[in-house]
Parts: sequence; structure tokens; C-alpha cells
Amino acid sequence: MTTRPRTVRGARRPEDQVDGRHDVPADETTGAQADMPPAGADGGGIGPADGSPGPLSWPKATIVTRHAERAPATWGLGDGQAVPWEYAPAPESRDVVTIRERYGLFINGREVQAASGETFPDVNPATEEILTHVARGGPQDVDIAVRAARTAFRRRWGALPGRERAKYLFRIARLLQERSREFAVLETMDTGKPIRESRDVDIPLAAAHFWYYAGWADKLEYAFPGRLARPLGVAAQVIPWNFPLLMLAWKIAPALAAGNTVVLKPASTTPLSALLFADVCRQADLPPGVVNIVPGPGSMGEALIRHPGVDKVAFTGSTEIGKGIARGIAGTDKVLTLELGGKAANIVFDDAPLDQAIEGIVNGIYFNQGEVCCAGSRLLVQESIADELVDRLKDRLATIRVGDPMDKNTDVGAINSKAQLEKITELVAAGVAEGATLYQPACDLPERGFFFRPTLFTNVAQSHRIAREEIFGPVLSVLTFRTPDEAVEKANNTPYGLSAGIWTDKGSRILWMTRRMRAGVVWANTFNRFDPTSPFGGYKESGYGREGGMQGLHAYVRLDDPS
Ligand code: NDP
Repeated sequence: MTTRPRTVRGARRPEDQVDGRHDVPADETTGAQADMPPAGADGGGIGPADGSPGPLSWPKATIVTRHAERAPATWGLGDGQAVPWEYAPAPESRDVVTIRERYGLFINGREVQAASGETFPDVNPATEEILTHVARGGPQDVDIAVRAARTAFRRRWGALPGRERAKYLFRIARLLQERSREFAVLETMDTGKPIRESRDVDIPLAAAHFWYYAGWADKLEYAFPGRLARPLGVAAQVIPWNFPLLMLAWKIAPALAAGNTVVLKPASTTPLSALLFADVCRQADLPPGVVNIVPGPGSMGEALIRHPGVDKVAFTGSTEIGKGIARGIAGTDKVLTLELGGKAANIVFDDAPLDQAIEGIVNGIYFNQGEVCCAGSRLLVQESIADELVDRLKDRLATIRVGDPMDKNTDVGAINSKAQLEKITELVAAGVAEGATLYQPACDLPERGFFFRPTLFTNVAQSHRIAREEIFGPVLSVLTFRTPDEAVEKANNTPYGLSAGIWTDKGSRILWMTRRMRAGVVWANTFNRFDPTSPFGGYKESGYGREGGMQGLHAYVRLDDPS
């Protein structure tokens, strides 16, 4: 995943921009801005000069004049004329998606109502509108789903040759690609993440996981040479709301490739892409019971995990719930993988390529509104470059576009839920109260929906809550270090150990640092890059077990002696 460079490089902070007096050389103006027509009489837009709505105008209220640049001579506006400009809205159409009024549970290949008959509302976090009502599963539904998965495992899937399982996985991958636009729009409406990210990251990566594990389904003897890999049986999988379809793919693809059947519980705030995936399973003619999708509350997730018919548990979510799950299944023979929270250090040395580092920092913490378990939420900067880097980062923050997630220009969308917004707000207030210095770029937030400004804290002490706790929002804490040893010490000074980033020109330093980082993934001169062939997982309170790569298969097989 990469965050796209802004159209105008070198833009200054908003407070510096209002009079348009600073100069941006013509050769720094690229892309959309170069094509931007002069503003209409109402201060912006392509409408007629009398202010009446022309065919390509947009409402006056949406115009925010954040960048006032001097017009290059090539625009023909007269040399040096100040031009306020803004991107035209570029909303993705929601017409590609049909959202029904009600959704059921997907059990044994059919859509069924919950045993209780209850439903819960599903809300679009960017507009607060209710999108639909979804059946609220409970323990009775869990029992039916686990039995269906067991039957499918015994009668069909568990004994199916790998090459046959592979065909289904390939089919699912292809269908995800064919329906990618539909999935992207639905995911954005349900999560609040920018359409640019669901379109370019979530959905392609979800399909890639099915392609990748389809390739392994008939090659398990090569993945585990000299061992006989057998499926575990029924997998209970509980996923969070930050990457709903992608987390589903991380879990279902390897489970099916290895011959297991699954019962998956999506998060209550984001059940829709999993329910659309149920439709893909039907389209792919997947045998009934191989994949079961049961939305419901956390208590239902607990009932699923504790069900005696479950052989394998895979959970992604908060450390607190993960610990409870580990306690709950202790003493059983269930196999457990946990992917929990994080507080990653993104470490920038004084020899780092700063332009790239700044993009990596932005991508590390503002991608997906910072609602990422491996987000680079602690920026460790070598003291000698700290002032310059923070200044440049502030400039860069001023160009981040917060707002309608369906707009293709949006960088930071809506926070997934009111509860999560409240958690972020509370932790940011704690940062201020504890003495850190807050910086937020001036930007207008939509009046409705759960939005939060990209936030940067300097003067952060290691003891501050914002430096210790997972915020899961667009909030970066900046700390400094002097020596590589100090960087390692500070980076590892956390109960978590999911990821880290290192920015330096020296390969030897990357290797030296990587050996010392207590983190499951260490990115070098990049951040938040994912690939189905690469394992992902944590140390310490970030969980155990790996997802992705061959290691991800290991979590779904029992290895026997072939003799
Ligand atoms: P949770 O850990 O509560 O939710 C993750 C998933 O677990 C959801 O499907 C949830 O269901 C389910 N769940 C909740 N309680 C139980 C239980 N007792 N047994 C089994 N499953 C359960 O995360 P939250 O949504 O409450 O987020 C809180 C914090 O957790 C965030 O602020 C963030 O710090 C962290 N988090 C980390 C994630 C990661 O990727 N590591 C992902 C999400 C959150 P339901 O949605 O119905 O509650």
C-alpha cells in the first residue's frame, strides 16, 4: 500500500496559505492542478461566472479554499495571479451495490434468520444513516453453524483432493476480482475507509490471498516436506472491523486450502462484505457448510470459540478480548492463533531519505484512519533531524484530505464507529492533559459522521498514555533518540510487538536493527506493505501464530509422521 503523493508538492500550512503569497515554482505543479480551470465567481467551481449552477458546478458549501497558489503563466490568467483552488468532488457511484433491507445468517449454504428472530442495525459511519438490518446470531445459531461445518468437513471437504479444493479457491479469487468494484463500494460504506483504499488495497489483497492459497491446496507435501499435513477440522474465526474482507480472506483462504471448514463471525459494525462473500461462495458452488457466516454480538463470538465442536480458533482484535479467549480455551485441544494490538515504532535515522520517510510516516499512521493494528503510531526520530522532519511532516499533514470516504480524492475517511471516535478523542485529550503538544492541520470536517483530524503530538514522554496505549486512530506521537541502541530500547519498550519500521540509508544498520527489534514484521524504508506470501503476526501481547505465507498454512494443519 502506498499513499499517493499530493498533487501540489511543497504546499505550506493553511495559516501560511490564505493570502497565496508564497511561491510554488511552476515545475512543482503537476497533475490535476495543472488542469484546474479558473475559479468561478462564487469562489470556486466550473460553473458560470454569475454563480448559477452550471452542468459541472458543485455546491458552494463544499468549496474549501485551502491552497492559494500563484498561477503559472501557462494557465493564461495573467502572470502571478492568485488562484484559490480545490479538487472537484469525485464521488464513486454507489449504484454498483444493492443493499437489501434485511440480511440473514449464512449457514449450510443458505440464508437463514437468527433463531431469536432478532436483528441489529448496520450504520454507515460517514453519514450515520442505517444501511440495513442484519440477523443477530446467538448460541443456538452458532451450534447449528458448527454442526453444518462439521458435517461438511466429514462428508465432503476434509476428504476432497487438494487439486479439487484449489479449483474452488481459484473460482472465489476470480469472482472477488470480477466483483471488486461492488465489494469496494460496500466496504467503504460499511467501514468509513476511503474508496481509494478499499479499491486499491483491501479488495485486491483479499483476492490475492485466495489466489495464493489456491496454489498451495494441492502442494501441502511441499509446504511441509517429510510430514503428512492433515486439516484440523472446524475453524472458528472472529474478525474485526478495520479490514473486514481482508481479514476474512486471511482466515478463510488458508483454512479452506488446508481442508478445514469454517464458521466466521464478522464484527458487528461491519458485517456486509462477509455477507456479500457468502454470495460469492454460492456463486462458486462451494459445497454447503464449508463456509458459514454468522454475524452477532461479542457474546456470540465467545459462544463460537468455546463450542466443543470447534478444533481451531483464529481471532483478530483487541488484546483484552484475545487474552480472555486464550484463558477460555486453555485446557482444551483447540489450536489458537491470536492477532492482537500494536504500538509500532517507525524509526527514522538522520541518513534516511526524508521525502520517502515522510510518505512512509504518513502511510504508516494515517492509512485507514490509523485503525490498523500494525500502524506506525510512535515516530522515533534521530534528534539531529527532529525539528526539520516535524516541520516537513506538518506541511505534509496540511495536504491530507479528510472527508467523504466515497470521494476518490479522500485520504482519511470516517472513524468506524462512535465508540471508536470517543476512544480516540479521550486518548488525545489525555495526551494534551499530560503535557504533549498537539498539532492538527486546519481542515473542515463533514457535519455528520464520525471524523477525526490527522493529529500529531510532539514533546511526548514515554510515560504518556498516547505513547503506550493503542489508540487505533489517526494520531501520531513523536519521540526522539540519539543512538541506535537508544532507538532499539525505546522501540521495544512496549508490551506489544507486532511491527516496526526503519528508515536509513545503510543496509548494515537495517540488519543490525532488525535483529534487535521485538516485532513480528519489520519494514525497511517502507511501511504497511502487505503480501499474501509474507507471514504476519506478533510477539508478546500482540499475539501468536502467523497469518499469510506458508506459515499461515501451518496454523490450519496437524503434521503427522507419514509412516
Ligand atoms: P474487539 O476485540 O472487541 O472486537 C474484535 C472482534 O471480536 C469483533 O468481531 C467482536 O465482536 C469480537 N468479540 C468481542 N468480544 C468478544 C468475546 N468475548 N469473544 C469473542 N469475540 C469477541 O475490538 P473492539 O471492536 O472493541 O475495538 C476495541 C479496540 O481493540 C480498538 O480500539 C483497538 O485498539 C483494538 N482492535 C484491534 C484490532 C486489531 O486488528 N488488532 C482490530 C479491532 C480492534 P463485536 O464486533 O460484535 O463486538
